[in-house]
Amino acid sequence: MSEVLDLPIPEQAACVARGEISALALTERALGRMEAHGGLHAFLYVAREAALAAAAAVDQKRARGEPLGKLCGVPIAIKDALCTRDAPTTCASKLLTRRNASGTAGSDADSGWRPPYDATVVARLRAADAVLVGKTNMDEFAMGSSGENSAFGPMLNPWDSTRTAGGSSGGSAVAVAAGMAAGSLGSDTGGSIRQPAALCGVVGVKPSYGRVSRYGLVAFASSLDQVGPFARDARSAARLLEVISGADGHDSTCADLPVGAYEAACDKPVKGLRIGIPEEYFGAGLDPAVASSVRAAISALESEGCSVHPVALPHTRHGIATYYIVATAEASSNLARFDGVRFGLRLEPPRSNLETMYGKTRNAGFGAEVKRRILLGTYVLSSGYYDAYYRKAQKTRTLIKQDFDRAFETVDAIAAPTSPSPAFKFGDKGSDPLAMYLADIYTLPASLAGIAGLSVPCAMTRANDSQPALPVGLQLLAPAFEEERLFTLAAAVERLTAPNGPARPPLG
Ligand code: GLN
Repeated sequence: MSEVLDLPIPEQAACVARGEISALALTERALGRMEAHGGLHAFLYVAREAALAAAAAVDQKRARGEPLGKLCGVPIAIKDALCTRDAPTTCASKLLTRRNASGTAGSDADSGWRPPYDATVVARLRAADAVLVGKTNMDEFAMGSSGENSAFGPMLNPWDSTRTAGGSSGGSAVAVAAGMAAGSLGSDTGGSIRQPAALCGVVGVKPSYGRVSRYGLVAFASSLDQVGPFARDARSAARLLEVISGADGHDSTCADLPVGAYEAACDKPVKGLRIGIPEEYFGAGLDPAVASSVRAAISALESEGCSVHPVALPHTRHGIATYYIVATAEASSNLARFDGVRFGLRLEPPRSNLETMYGKTRNAGFGAEVKRRILLGTYVLSSGYYDAYYRKAQKTRTLIKQDFDRAFETVDAIAAPTSPSPAFKFGDKGSDPLAMYLADIYTLPASLAGIAGLSVPCAMTRANDSQPALPVGLQLLAPAFEEERLFTLAAAVERLTAPNGPARPPLG
């Protein structure tokens, strides 16, 4: 029998519903793989007991003949930035991790902050009878593009363990790529779902701003943050998005708009769709193998009846500067709550009032990148610099959004690379924050504009002496709340570029 855990999510749920495999057996399989591939460090917390109990409950529900949810028995992993009432939530930060008596942090996040409630997206997964198998590793407070900012050590790329998995939701991408979970949730503020999805060879969706509730997502930059799914194929990601989307009384920024038929959209023909190609996304700095793979995927769509048109997004070059002003400003405000009094566990009591005043205990728990962002954000918001930086960034953000508005007057979707390069080596960019920020060059503008985005694997690079074959992601963008178009196109890309199903990393 083929491995149920490797089937698309709708088929896994159907197998459980028909009784071809028990939820318990499927969960045990996932937990087994999580243990076997523990070296990839995708998980900060394995929810073994809770997962087995949830799976047993699904099996009992079935035995009683009760109706089963759309994700019945399906093993799902959750980024550690999302609140879970039965598992710690640490954002991969020592600040949210309990210390032992000597004041040193534990080696994993097992002793982290326990939220008293579930994030809305987590509650919706549970209500759909999903089995939550663990909390995934990430860059601390979702700040980073490689996973190297996790306070507990980075996650490894399953295609080549000397390379990063991308970030910040790297653990959620690895969990899916390595088959440890059927799907996962991440958060995307400037690319944190799309970029690791591209680098790990899975589908990752950044929904439109307001599509999915952020209630219970630890806030990084509130005008940008979105929760979204990872899965091995578009249809599976579509089912997850259908479950987690929609209005939420706990989050007034979540739009009260009908949830699209994302899964059904995967079966629609692409014929007649107009695809925009922004030349700004194909300029200097783009790896030639990524460029040719992305162009080949676009030609394949053309052969299916899409029309291809150049579009101009002239303010793209301001994306990085704009994002790193807006995001750090918002982060400096959002992270003020981690003061060791309201949130944050103190490393040790301050030795003097002066130390308290200067925040000694508070700073003890943040890593270097988080501190850098708080400093930068505080600086751009300070009275002498507000107009020079923050106000200007807000204006530029509007120009970036208007670029997309104009482009979408003539095309239905935009196609471009997700990341300028395939997975890069550990340490390659880690010592240079600016080089790291460049990794987000193609993902930031869509976040600033609040539109819908998705990354779908479209090719593997050719292996050579210095690197094995690595996945390449195609980024698809659509106007806000037009996620259905993304799924129609992504499913076509899969059929055209990987007719035998998604490529699998060479794991033992
Ligand atoms: N890599 C970007 C950053 O470091 C985006 C992170 C994200 O989307 N959470 O801010």
